[in-house]
Amino acid sequence: MELFKIETGSFMLDGGAMFGVVPKVLWNKVYPADENNMCILSMRCLLIKSDKQLILIDTGIGNKQSEKFFGYYFLQDQILIDKAIKHAGFDPLDVTDVILTHLHFDHCGGTVAKKNGDEYALHFPNANHWVSQQQWEWSQSPNFREKASYLKENIIPVMESGKLKFIQKEGAFNDNIYIRFFNGHSEGVIVPVIKFRDKKIAYVGDVFPTTAHIPISWVCGFDTKPLVSMQERADFLSEAVKNDYIFFFEHDFYNECCTLTTNEKGVCVKEVCGFGEF
Ligand SMILES: [Zn+2]
Repeated sequence: MELFKIETGSFMLDGGAMFGVVPKVLWNKVYPADENNMCILSMRCLLIKSDKQLILIDTGIGNKQSEKFFGYYFLQDQILIDKAIKHAGFDPLDVTDVILTHLHFDHCGGTVAKKNGDEYALHFPNANHWVSQQQWEWSQSPNFREKASYLKENIIPVMESGKLKFIQKEGAFNDNIYIRFFNGHSEGVIVPVIKFRDKKIAYVGDVFPTTAHIPISWVCGFDTKPLVSMQERADFLSEAVKNDYIFFFEHDFYNECCTLTTNEKGVCVKEVCGFGEF
């Protein structure tokens, strides 16, 4: 099995929104904002190649929406997911599975391309696209908080193509990938835990957006159920320390991966490392 990180560029979000009730004097020291209080975030996907499957986790933001929409997010160095896959040496037609951690636009926007005006086409037409049943249902009657993050054009064409598949419960996706569910950020958010050589790599997505979000109470302001987030993050951190998980960050612009340890305050970063250094 081989792993490839797939960078699709970065975008900016308000630092206050990223760190919720944590005071800026604290978070700004570890994840600095610019003069407009914006923090830079990556959209780092992961490609997993095994003998039988070529599996992509998340697809970036894509390019289907209006200039006005993208104007809010200050995209930088954007590479559309199909190009990024080609850069890694693969043909998008060979991708067998796309696992979408959830359906917020910065995670699944690259799934569907806009071609010739208003026509939609899948970037990975031969792939089954997996999302949790809970997230799918949640996204179909969205609450006021998340409404603006669920964009029909990012997922309905997948459903109409017959390539949208649902994961009902936690469990093995294949011999090397185990699917975990989290409900604090949104309902049924997937964290895939990948067995790789003698390591386990957790693709922590929006559950731990950056290394700065590892303290349990440093919950992202976007989370729909912050108390649930804190409890499930605490539980997962204990498990991660016990089992030497490596966290792979989708959104941390500065750090690709880290290992964890425990100090007097709780679980913290042991060492940050680049992808490929572990
Ligand atoms: Zn999200």
